[in-house]
Amino acid sequence: MKEELQQRIHKAQEAMQSLQAILPSPGQKPQETVAEAMNELISQDYEPYFSGNAALHLVSRCRRCGRCCQKELTVAVSFQDCKRIAKHKGISLKRFMKDYTLPHELKGEAVGNARMIRKETGKPCPFYDSTLPGCSIQSVKPQVCSAALYLSKMNLLLCEENRKFSTFSNCPADVELRERIANFSQMLKEEQKQKTTAKETLDGLAANLLAELFQSSPHANLFRLLLRLKGMEKYFGRDTALPLAQKMGLKRLPEDEELKPLAFLFAAMLLEKEASEPALAQ
Ligand code: SF4
Ligand code: SF4
Repeated sequence: MKEELQQRIHKAQEAMQSLQAILPSPGQKPQETVAEAMNELISQDYEPYFSGNAALHLVSRCRRCGRCCQKELTVAVSFQDCKRIAKHKGISLKRFMKDYTLPHELKGEAVGNARMIRKETGKPCPFYDSTLPGCSIQSVKPQVCSAALYLSKMNLLLCEENRKFSTFSNCPADVELRERIANFSQMLKEEQKQKTTAKETLDGLAANLLAELFQSSPHANLFRLLLRLKGMEKYFGRDTALPLAQKMGLKRLPEDEELKPLAFLFAAMLLEKEASEPALAQ
C-alpha cells in the first residue's frame, strides 16, 4: 500500500481509538433521546448531507480571500454573537447593537432575536479588512460566518433539494479540498487496480479498511453521532452542542483535531459514493 494511504488510514484508526477516551463508560450507551434532540434541531432529512458537510467543513481551510465577506448581501448575528463581539471590542452590548447591527429583515420564530450586521449595499462587511486579509474579528466572528460555507443554511437546503453535495467553484478553499479528496480517491483506485491485476488477495486493501472503519467497526456509529454533534456545534454554537454531549454521557465535546483524520476519509468516501450513486440514499 502507498505510504500516504497507509499513513492516513493508520492515523484514522488511531483517531477512532483515541475518541474512546471521551465516550461514555463501557456499557453506558448514548441515550436515544440525543438522536431525537438532534432531529429536532436539524431534521434527519438533511442526512447524510449534514454530517457529510460537517466533515467537509472540518477539513477545509478557508483562504480568507474575502469573497464571502464582500459578496454576501446580509450577515445575521445572534444575540450571543452580539454579546461575544461587543466584549471582544470592549464596548457595551447596547453600543454594539446600535452601531453595528440592524433589525433582521425577516420576521418570525425562525429568526428569533437575531439581527443583521449593519452594512451598506454593495459594500463589504464592516469587519472585513483586506490588509489582514479577511475578518478583523476572526476569533469571535458570527456563528453564520463560522458555519460558512459547507454548513451554511443555504448550502444545506441546496444539498437536500438536489440530493447532492454542493461545490463552490469560486471558492479557493473548496477547489483545494476537492483536489485533495480527488487525489486520495485516485490513490485508492490505483491500489485496487494493481491488486486486482496482480490477482493478489484483496485483504488489507485500503478501500476495504476504510469501509470497515466507518461501517462495521464497533465505534462507527458513535463516530457518526460525534460528527453530527460537531456539525451542530459549528451550526448552532457550543452552548447548544454541550448539553447534547452531556446527555450522551460524553466527558466533553470532541475537539476538531480529534475528528479531522476521520473526517477527511469519511468525506472522501461519501463523495466517492455520490459519484457512483448520484442520489445518495439516506
Ligand atoms: S470564498 Fe472560500 S476561501 Fe474565500 S472567504 Fe469564502 S470560504 Fe474563505
Ligand atoms: S463578520 Fe467577518 S467573516 Fe463574517 S462577513 Fe464580516 S468580515 Fe466576513
